[in-house]
Amino acid sequence: MKPNILFIMADDHASKAISCYGQGINHTPHIDRIANEGMRLDHCYVTNSICTPSRASILCGTYNHVNGVVTLDSKINKHLPNVAKHLHTDGYQTAMIGKWHLGEGSDHEPSGFDFWSVVPGQGEYFDPEMIEMGEHIRVPGYATDIITDKCLDWLKARDESKPFFMMCHHKAPHRSWEYDRKYEDLYTEDVSLPDTFEDDYKNRAKAAAAAKMKIDGDITYFDLGLVQPEGGSEIGEPSFVGSSDRKIPTPSDLSTFKLIDKDTGEVFRFETQQQLAHFKYQRYIKRYLRTIASIDDNVGRMLDYLDEEGLTDNTIVIYTSDQGFFLGEHGWFDKRFMYEESFQMPFVIRYPKAIKAGTVCSDIVCNVDFAPTFLDYAGSTVPNYMQGASFRPLLEGNTPADWPQVAYHRYWMHRDQHHNAYAHYGVRNQRYKLIYWYNDGFDLPGTNPGGEKPEWELFDCEKDPLELFNCYSDPAYAGIVRELTDLLNSKMREIGDVPAHA
Ligand code: CA
Repeated sequence: MKPNILFIMADDHASKAISCYGQGINHTPHIDRIANEGMRLDHCYVTNSICTPSRASILCGTYNHVNGVVTLDSKINKHLPNVAKHLHTDGYQTAMIGKWHLGEGSDHEPSGFDFWSVVPGQGEYFDPEMIEMGEHIRVPGYATDIITDKCLDWLKARDESKPFFMMCHHKAPHRSWEYDRKYEDLYTEDVSLPDTFEDDYKNRAKAAAAAKMKIDGDITYFDLGLVQPEGGSEIGEPSFVGSSDRKIPTPSDLSTFKLIDKDTGEVFRFETQQQLAHFKYQRYIKRYLRTIASIDDNVGRMLDYLDEEGLTDNTIVIYTSDQGFFLGEHGWFDKRFMYEESFQMPFVIRYPKAIKAGTVCSDIVCNVDFAPTFLDYAGSTVPNYMQGASFRPLLEGNTPADWPQVAYHRYWMHRDQHHNAYAHYGVRNQRYKLIYWYNDGFDLPGTNPGGEKPEWELFDCEKDPLELFNCYSDPAYAGIVRELTDLLNSKMREIGDVPAHA
């Protein structure tokens, strides 16, 4: 029988927060098990580091200028072909459970799935509303448990004569990191601060300093499960226009400043600005990691089910995330940028029949390659409109000599009001990363001639893995700049995106 495909995807899960990636900040034994019994990919990249566009690329196997889902507010046209439709046509039972985030209503709901049950928009952590085959329901409990329960229920009731394709999309660990109370006691010890937490953003494009994604400055009371003192005058900038939530300030005078836990009423006071900044980081990272502990336990439940039913050998299991995430690197939370922490997607895969246990892949693959890979394993034809390529040979240890080893990224939401992240595009190969900040508006470069001057960044990923030194103007890199600009041009021509650079 054709292999089953169980695709488990989290929302904003950085590879650093999966223990098999070796950073040592948490323990995820069940996700690690997939890698230990299969393969870990170290250079899997997202083509647009934001939820909705990444999901469209995964589903359709196309870049965002082709599938039309370029921003967080874009909605997918449900009539577009997608991987689930192809697999369904070829005999698979298909299900989509969890976070969809590609629009709602009859024109945008999941299509190609025998069964779907999704959370509207970003979804809620507790007692979430869900839309199940078009019907709005509310389900008591914690989102990660509920999504897993629904996946297991569907698997138990499936037609065993057909292979299955299941997309299990967790809502966690997305902002505002509301964890299940049963993980309250995890991470009582402080988590180490990243080396670049106090980045000064020198030697870089202005986008880095301009981004409103700083843990010390932009994270809100709600994000950290805190409230302002009752009866006191509220301080802090509103998190966005019309929001009652506010950013936690760092006042110059801390003598009367306090923070209060929303649930316990515990009061926190600070003697220095640095102490306050570190408190915000610890509060953030521990909340984030606790939501992941719940995912890991629920991945374990899925793997146990496959074992119990004798499905392990014939099921491809994947764990990934719609993009990476900043966990304090450069002082940030959030994603959006082509910098490594948010650009890299975690990706572990197990298929005992074909993928050797305990292997690691260092080749570059992208999320547009997922759909062609699934179709390849299913024995289906990869349709011409798909722009990605199957990386099945890489998974099986046979990387072709001409595998491109290049990832293209484009972020379109220029200076959105929440994060003020600048739009950009660029390419990365195994050694270098070139980024073009067009700095002139939301849509195509050159459409806003009154805009700011464009900027380039070049990073030497081997000498400067933390991406602290833009070497674009360093004469020693002139040849590399030429080479990478050519690579960018050829990639953009290949996929049909925007003008080439001289
Ligand atoms: Ca996301």
